[in-house]
Amino acid sequence: MSTLCVSGGRVLLPDHDVVRADVLVDQEEGTVVEVGEDLAGDVTLDADDCLVMPGLVNAHTHAAMTLLRGIADDKPLDAWLQEDIWPVEAALTSEDVRAGTELAAVEMIKSGTTAFADMYFEVDAVVDAVETAGLRARVGHGVVTVGKDDEAAREDAAESIRVAERFDGAADGRVSTAFMPHSLTTVDPDVLREYTEAARDAGVPVHFHANETTDEVDPIVDERGERPLAWARELGLLEPEDFLAHGVHTTSDEHALLAETGAGVVHCPASNMKLASGMAPVQAMRDAGVTVALGTDGAASNNDLDVFDEMRDAAMLGKLAADDASAVPAGAAVEMATQGGADVLGIDAGRVEPGANADLAVLDLDAAHLTPQHDLVSHLAYAATGSDVRHTVCDGQVLMRDRELTTLDAAAVRERASEQATELVERA
Ligand SMILES: [Zn+2]
Repeated sequence: MSTLCVSGGRVLLPDHDVVRADVLVDQEEGTVVEVGEDLAGDVTLDADDCLVMPGLVNAHTHAAMTLLRGIADDKPLDAWLQEDIWPVEAALTSEDVRAGTELAAVEMIKSGTTAFADMYFEVDAVVDAVETAGLRARVGHGVVTVGKDDEAAREDAAESIRVAERFDGAADGRVSTAFMPHSLTTVDPDVLREYTEAARDAGVPVHFHANETTDEVDPIVDERGERPLAWARELGLLEPEDFLAHGVHTTSDEHALLAETGAGVVHCPASNMKLASGMAPVQAMRDAGVTVALGTDGAASNNDLDVFDEMRDAAMLGKLAADDASAVPAGAAVEMATQGGADVLGIDAGRVEPGANADLAVLDLDAAHLTPQHDLVSHLAYAATGSDVRHTVCDGQVLMRDRELTTLDAAAVRERASEQATELVERA
């Protein structure tokens, strides 16, 4: 076996203890072999003055929306989608998605993210980009049936199932898939019910947006006389591997339902703040036993893909939501961005220990804003940023060494993305 040794640093263990240790990785298996002192490998990654931590998980995004970064800000969700985002997305080509996803991959690798969930279109281009970048992802084709006739609606859902079947296990197993209906209000209920059953037959989970705004929750409550997640359950959603984005406007009954079914929630605090969607009751969800992960959502509503920002936002917004400064402490934010994200995506990562996938971020602690070092978990949640990441490793492969990407030409990716974005906006 060829081995990689991340040596000379401190290591964040699953219980959030920090110890001085080396991390030995089997590069063929892509797993951590040993965490201990005085280890050596065929290849060495210098972690002197660094913290070796699990690669961060961005459990809900629309990666290629990097092309729409800054195109329209400061509007509520509904108007923003209908007036600005959807018209441009209607003009998207496969080349746009490829360029936008590669740009997202550069940004993610540079900020220590090693796995993400992506809901978008032209999924073959997304998979290509993920494969080239060396990242891990759960991908899917987003279904919206609003404004479509029955035949076109079913075709869109069928495409999501076809894509999920085709790409599950791609890129040497680094790519997994899901059926991805956009939300409970943008997909026709009959179509949702029928194709959720098809997802079960295909053996893939379902990922959707839910309870993001009151504009989305109220019509369901008015029409059905029940909460959205109870309705989702009736439609066949909320199996243990399913996960939903947002869950901003959720009740204790809905938290109990999520905990009982095992379905996960991806909290996207920056997007929720920017679109004034509301404050998700994250501490209440965690207290109820719900698995909560963090996501940036698309770059157009964030406007970056830095999960360190998301940790800080989650901790701060969680306190406001609970009206309690002890809610969503630093350790909870770190847990959601690592182990919680891995659990929600169904990957064996999010922790640095033997047997787990070697998905790692190595954070450079030699910085004024990370001095002194009373508590490194506090720094991760409140003081560190993505640009502090020195090396990124995914599946045992070094994707960034000393801030230089090894799998993608960052300058070329940025140039291509800028060109595609300009052309896209002109076309739309
Ligand atoms: Zn989203």
